[in-house]
Amino acid sequence: MIPARFAGLMLAGLGLPALGAGLAPMEPGLDYHSFANVDQFRTTHIALDLRVDLEDQVISGVVSLELKRLDPRATQLVLDTKGLTINDVNQKATDVLGATDKSQTIWVSRPFHLEKPDPILGSALIIELPPSRKPVESIRIDYETLPSAGALQWLTPKQTAGRKKAFLYTQSEPIGARTWIPLQDTPQVRAPYDAVVHTSPGMLAVMSAENDPKAKRKGEFTFRMPQAIPSYLIALAVGDLKFQETGPRTGVYAEKAQIKAAAREFADTESMIVAGEKLFGPYRWSRYDILVLPPSFPLGGMENPRLSFITPTVIAGDKSLVGVIAHELAHSWSGNLVSNATWRDLWLNEGFTDYLQTRIMTQIYGEQRASMEAVLGLESLRADLARLQPQDQVLAIDLRNRDPDAVFSEVPYQKGRLFLDYLDAKFGRERFDAFLRGYFDHFAFKSITTEQFTDYLAQNLLDRFPGIVGRAEVDAWVHHPGLPADAVLPVSSAFQPVDAARAAWLAGTLPAKKFGLDWATQQWLHFLDGMPGALTSKQMKDLDEAHGFTRSGNAQIERSWLKLAIRNDYQPSFARLEEYLMNIGRRVLIEPLYTDLMKTPAGTEFAKRVYAKARPGYHPSTVAAVDAIVKPAETPE
Ligand SMILES: [Zn+2]
Repeated sequence: MIPARFAGLMLAGLGLPALGAGLAPMEPGLDYHSFANVDQFRTTHIALDLRVDLEDQVISGVVSLELKRLDPRATQLVLDTKGLTINDVNQKATDVLGATDKSQTIWVSRPFHLEKPDPILGSALIIELPPSRKPVESIRIDYETLPSAGALQWLTPKQTAGRKKAFLYTQSEPIGARTWIPLQDTPQVRAPYDAVVHTSPGMLAVMSAENDPKAKRKGEFTFRMPQAIPSYLIALAVGDLKFQETGPRTGVYAEKAQIKAAAREFADTESMIVAGEKLFGPYRWSRYDILVLPPSFPLGGMENPRLSFITPTVIAGDKSLVGVIAHELAHSWSGNLVSNATWRDLWLNEGFTDYLQTRIMTQIYGEQRASMEAVLGLESLRADLARLQPQDQVLAIDLRNRDPDAVFSEVPYQKGRLFLDYLDAKFGRERFDAFLRGYFDHFAFKSITTEQFTDYLAQNLLDRFPGIVGRAEVDAWVHHPGLPADAVLPVSSAFQPVDAARAAWLAGTLPAKKFGLDWATQQWLHFLDGMPGALTSKQMKDLDEAHGFTRSGNAQIERSWLKLAIRNDYQPSFARLEEYLMNIGRRVLIEPLYTDLMKTPAGTEFAKRVYAKARPGYHPSTVAAVDAIVKPAETPE
């Protein structure tokens, strides 16, 4: 996913227990964010039969789990749930007339109960089972969700672009799947899934699975995801969606109002797949489609396999923000093919993906664009390193007793990427590329820990080419805070003229309209984000009149400009600021604006007034994050 980088800050404010306080040493590979007894049972297949009620905002139905029984003595199956109502649990009994005659399948009701809920992890669902020597157990659970389910955003017709029909989408990463499916919600368990989804006629349902854009909109859809994936990649959306093809393996789903612009913006997706295959091996997921969500989507993108979920705020009209697409596509190798085994190992997903993203962007848009984006990433990382505690600056982070959302800082992303940049530079492109391809092949469709990666790295790169990088250096990257002194940092010559223009403009020797006519988006971001100290109203007006930042139409540039407007109390941009906060729910764009507003009394008043109106339109994760920033006096339901 594309980070919501303020999550760590938010959790620091929640008064959760101090990091790893009073705990035994962390056990690598143990998922501290799941109740599932994966040593006794492992899910091997998931089948869903769900009804999506857009009016009552409830998903109800049945999940059938096939589980490999690893322990014949085990008498309890423990699953993850959060806020689910469990109506009934059944176990497939031994067939009376023989295992092959399916018509004789008998389901036996089993006792179950929900444990007392943990505020972060939810409730363990305990299902009593008799001990058995059967290698496979089949369990059927009848359940329904609450309207407040954390992974689900239910949009009323008014909150969509078309304004006529409701919309639902899910965001399961990291531990949201348990808020809409009872299951072993840990990334170390992978399973294929099938689904039947019932919903209102006229709507289209899509999933992280094989999709049929021509499916008749009669209220029933079937899906098949043949590859084994972790639970956080199970995804569903239902809306009044159109489809447009953009290449032999690619297409875009979006509401009618956005479909044409989206297809134009993402026209290079097939070329990106070809570039990825050339570098990292075959694309193993058949199709790669993009679902453009309403603007309330809290993330830049989510790498749901075969169907990335993407914010509409990357549609800028000039492909300048499609790095997000390269990122989500790159997850088809790093993250979806080889996945983190626990959230502590997230850097294996995101650091690799940021590295792959840069490689793909270089292939498609050239060295200059890719290096500018890499430098902007480094600048974000430096900002995060400045605010994070040392123990949160390490790649393999200790998340015990914490919401796993706390891991989503720039550290697993950008520091992870810099670690791979370092290995790339030290061993040389040819050796490193061969290593990467071998890595993806070796661990394909597996979930691995940091330790499995470092062992593989030692055997296949460090020891194969001795004397270049030692285990101590690897250890420093993975377990020490900050950046090692010999990190290989990205540079971009394209930012030099930008720095020079900014300095001359600040000194009053260069009028705003005299520079920037041919600058790329990334140069403008560098220009605006690097603006020091306070500016006068006259200076702000000069910039805005020359370059139209208040209504640039590029959501990233607008964010950087609005930050400046807040810092300098530039009132002419505040109407746009209000509109921006009302319309967009992407956390990386709006959290910094709320944070800066809260620094002055007038800004606080503005933030509270706008947030009270905007809050019902945000996704639950955005609400949780902005609540922690704005701390509303009363929290409307
Ligand atoms: Zn990602």
